Amino acid sequence: MKAANSILSSYGTSVFEVMSRLAIEHKSINLGQGFPDDRGPSDVLQAAADALLTQPNQYPPMLGVPELRQAVARHAKRFYGMDVDWQSEVMVTSGATEALASALFGLIEPGDEVVLIEPLYDSYIPILRRAGAVPRLVRLTPPDWTLTAAALDAAFGPKTKLLLLNNPQNPAAKVFSRAELELLADYVKRFDTLALCDEVYEHIAFDGRTHIPLMALPGMRERCLKIGSAGKTFSLTGWKVGYITAPAALLAPVSRCHQFLVFATPPNLQRAVAFGLDQDNSYFTGLAQDMRRRRDRLAQGLARIGFDLLDCAGTYFINAGFERLGFNGDDMAFCQHITVEAGVTAIPVSAFYAGPDAPATIARFCFAKQDHVLDGAVERLEKHFGRR
Ligand code: PMP
Ligand code: GLN
Repeated sequence: MKAANSILSSYGTSVFEVMSRLAIEHKSINLGQGFPDDRGPSDVLQAAADALLTQPNQYPPMLGVPELRQAVARHAKRFYGMDVDWQSEVMVTSGATEALASALFGLIEPGDEVVLIEPLYDSYIPILRRAGAVPRLVRLTPPDWTLTAAALDAAFGPKTKLLLLNNPQNPAAKVFSRAELELLADYVKRFDTLALCDEVYEHIAFDGRTHIPLMALPGMRERCLKIGSAGKTFSLTGWKVGYITAPAALLAPVSRCHQFLVFATPPNLQRAVAFGLDQDNSYFTGLAQDMRRRRDRLAQGLARIGFDLLDCAGTYFINAGFERLGFNGDDMAFCQHITVEAGVTAIPVSAFYAGPDAPATIARFCFAKQDHVLDGAVERLEKHFGRR
């Protein structure tokens, strides 16, 4: 038999799936894979149920139902002051994951270089390598995750086709400042590149920080593709409804990939997400406030046990250094150990690094969980590490 594609078959099962399976096997409280454990906003769910029963369930337009594309354009205007033409500049995708894949397959030519900022989300590198690109990594390291011009100097070059930026950044829980974004914009313009901006956590920034899309910076509107996800904004990760906003000339090749990969996304989930995106500002600020409260609840518990908590400026993940707990082993071993022995699951931060010598003493915990679940996890860890 002839071999399968060597790039994709060189990857194992994603760390999120591996840890979730282990959590199920050991009846562990799963603070690993990032998903909220509540039902999601009931009016958005109701809108989906109503739409399922009253609206067509056949193929919607390939780019997405007009209601959602219009809502994405209104959202861009309301939150970022950007004028977006819903007909030519917005496409609905099957989650941000598909938007990323369609964008990379639609834009990359073999041999192009792509600048990525580590730690990074797991789907980026396999897809861009499959598309024929060469990854150029800019490494951010804990606890500060500081972005430097020196690191960008080393990564950008004449072959750079695009920058892939995740902001707010999973798992660093970093929200890029305006100054950092200006620095990135400077490189994007200087090297005449594009920027693919994964902004799925755009509404989850804390402590007075606001998310700034790279696309909203001067001179960046024509160079950026911006990706959002209803999974994160409405705590409905299983719906897999995403959206991509880009200038028409950039969206066209991305839509070609989308058309051949999935063609369309379930129409009535799209209609419900359109309803959701039109909610008052209070829904969006409420989401961030609610997540911040959960962050603090989990952080206090983990700190009591002896974890060293890193700053969490956005996303629904918090990073905890475990060096002071006396565990002998790396972060993967630690996450397996607490799953099996303490009944709490986390994700090793080293899994988000593609290069060698990744930080190996930090575990990422998801706090998008109900209070009793967070408390239960802290209680189990306290018992295990003997601090009670
Ligand atoms: N990008 C980042 C940074 C993520 O954390 C996730 C995860 N959930 C995704 C993309 C994928 O989003 P979706 O579920 O909408 O495909
Ligand atoms: N984005 C989620 C996380 O970081 C996982 C998504 C997935 O499992 N594919 O945990």
